[in-house]
Amino acid sequence: MVDDAAGSGGKIHSAMDRRTFLRRSGLAALSPLWARELWGADKSLIRDAETADQRNAAGVRTGFRRRRPSDADWPSQASWKRLNEEVDGNLVPVNFPIEACLKDTASTACQNLMRNVHNPYYIADQPGLTQTLGWVDAWVSKPSVYAVAARNAHHIAAAVNFARENDLRLVVKGGGHSYQGTSNAEDSLLVWTRPMHDITINEAFVPRGCKGEQVPQRAVTIEAGAIWMQAYDAVTTKGGAYVQGGGCTTVGVAGLVQSGGFGSFSKHYGTAAAGLLEAEVVTADGNVRIVNACTNSDLFWALKGGGGGTFGAVSKVTLRLRELPEFWGAAIVRVRAASDDAFRRLLHYFVAFYGEHLFNDRWGEHARITSDNVLDLLMVCHDLSTEEARKIWQPFLAWVARSPGAYTIEGQPILGSMPARHWWDVEWRQQNHQAVFDLDQRPGASSNNAWWTGDAGQVAWFLYGYESLWMPASLLKLDSQKRLVQALFAGSRHKDIELHFNKGLAGGPREEIQATRNTATNPIVLSAFALAIVGDAGGGYPGVRGHEPDVAAGRKARQEIHKCVNELRALVPNGGAYISESDFFQEDWQHAYWGSNYTRLAGVKKKYDPTGLFFVHNGVGSDEWSDDGFVRRARTRK
Ligand SMILES: Cc1cc2nc3c(=O)[nH]c(=O)nc-3n(C[C@H](O)[C@H](O)[C@H](O)COP(=O)(O)OP(=O)(O)OC[C@H]3O[C@@H](n4cnc5c(N)ncnc54)[C@H](O)[C@@H]3O)c2cc1C
Repeated sequence: MVDDAAGSGGKIHSAMDRRTFLRRSGLAALSPLWARELWGADKSLIRDAETADQRNAAGVRTGFRRRRPSDADWPSQASWKRLNEEVDGNLVPVNFPIEACLKDTASTACQNLMRNVHNPYYIADQPGLTQTLGWVDAWVSKPSVYAVAARNAHHIAAAVNFARENDLRLVVKGGGHSYQGTSNAEDSLLVWTRPMHDITINEAFVPRGCKGEQVPQRAVTIEAGAIWMQAYDAVTTKGGAYVQGGGCTTVGVAGLVQSGGFGSFSKHYGTAAAGLLEAEVVTADGNVRIVNACTNSDLFWALKGGGGGTFGAVSKVTLRLRELPEFWGAAIVRVRAASDDAFRRLLHYFVAFYGEHLFNDRWGEHARITSDNVLDLLMVCHDLSTEEARKIWQPFLAWVARSPGAYTIEGQPILGSMPARHWWDVEWRQQNHQAVFDLDQRPGASSNNAWWTGDAGQVAWFLYGYESLWMPASLLKLDSQKRLVQALFAGSRHKDIELHFNKGLAGGPREEIQATRNTATNPIVLSAFALAIVGDAGGGYPGVRGHEPDVAAGRKARQEIHKCVNELRALVPNGGAYISESDFFQEDWQHAYWGSNYTRLAGVKKKYDPTGLFFVHNGVGSDEWSDDGFVRRARTRK
């Protein structure tokens, strides 16, 4: 939040409407009731149970509406007290830190927020905040009324049962990194997994019920609230092994796995979802289930890329451990072209060079193609020494150097490798490299609370637009390269384009492609050489004086993004989109995210969550609900 942006009001001016304000004020007044001695037996408890029974008996009719705090039949204090006891005192009223700034930006509380809000660990510690604060004309981050700060699956089950029995809107939050705002909702009950982050390595794991069918293998079991930095520290820095997770260190483990999940080295190791061996999940009926290839295999498959917050609340995941190579490295080169023609030639050369030398499991991360004719390469390599990496790039650098009038290399290119085991080793990086991590400077923070400097811009941002499209590897064929370059050039006239090579699996090992084929992710990823991503964002939060999001700039940017990606869609009309990095307003999202897998996913959803307790924007089954997930639109199909 709070980057820039003079406020222009507009439609998004929804920060603190009167009803919300009254509700929050009411909540504040109620908070003394949290003292244990004030919890008393209450007739309204019985009333709540009766109403819930009637509602459940009525089923999930069209027009069914979940309760809000302003409703007369919102659960009584005694009911909340009972839930609090069930979850061992871990039910908390949700504080909304931004509220201080909505009231007075000069207040101490607001100044404290402003100091901390660009620290993703601070945000993650607040049940009432999310890493993205909103999206122009789409959503604005709002706190739940209460959160169960879950410590185990039974706490999660108690929250799920309570939400179901009382017709509440339920939300699940792990790392809080959803671009689409799917881990926050006002007037809801939140399952907050942040306190659950144990990590255990198992040398010979066999999924439950799979004895005799699967050979024991090295695996790591991670509780749902852990973030990838914690996993990488345990598995790679301390354990000398590899687990496929996300690129951003502060993304939540369970959220990423359910999205599909790509990391910098996914071209070699496949998606995070494909590495899932088993999960423990609380389904809408409150049962704690073990799911794997042998038990509840349909639900297991759906959790592998079918989208978070949709099929249940995951309490832990067990993921394959892999061999770590000796080296990982990077190729960071920024080339500016002197003219449009020179830029087209550069793109053409790079596409051919990529197709010939980099289109394999050794090279991941991305190239940025900018509107002002810069090709910004930020690539990583797997299992190549510095000499090997330099040799590969030598022809590209020589080609650029041959035309000094046309091309300038900006900054000092970086081409080299390092011991893979130290990739996420904060201390080693500090001693041996220039700053690649930003650190949590709060007193008492773990020295491992680090995030890539490259991800810093996404902390507390307010999105303007974001779209993605998988680019088929067939475009790298000689007779297609010209069309690809034309589309990239034309698109880049509207907005910068990023090609994330590690988010398309073509060129990777056959067995990893096969493993991802066995997940719910859109199969189009298997034959894509890259995911094209175009996005833009500013800062701010609606209603905070002097820090309003720039709505006009946001709308303009969204149009430009759309025009840009449409240039690529002209080449790739059915390129789908990656659920986690896609447009809030995605058309035909069912097929864009999951392709031919959607029908099967819809069946799993009906089986395990027939009343639609778990709702997220553009999640499987969400088309039966109002945009905010409170009102059922259509009769349930059995
Ligand atoms: C800075 C940044 C960098 C990113 N980098 C990458 C990247 O490198 N690769 C990539 O693939 N993606 C990336 N993403 C996207 C990210 O992986 C997804 O948004 C992911 O779903 C976030 O998970 P989370 O737990 O952090 O977020 P949340 O917002 O907490 O959760 C995301 C969704 O999963 C659900 N969920 C979370 N925990 C659970 C649970 N325990 N059980 C059931 N549902 C749950 C939530 O309800 C929500 O719908 C990035 C996002 C950001 C903001």
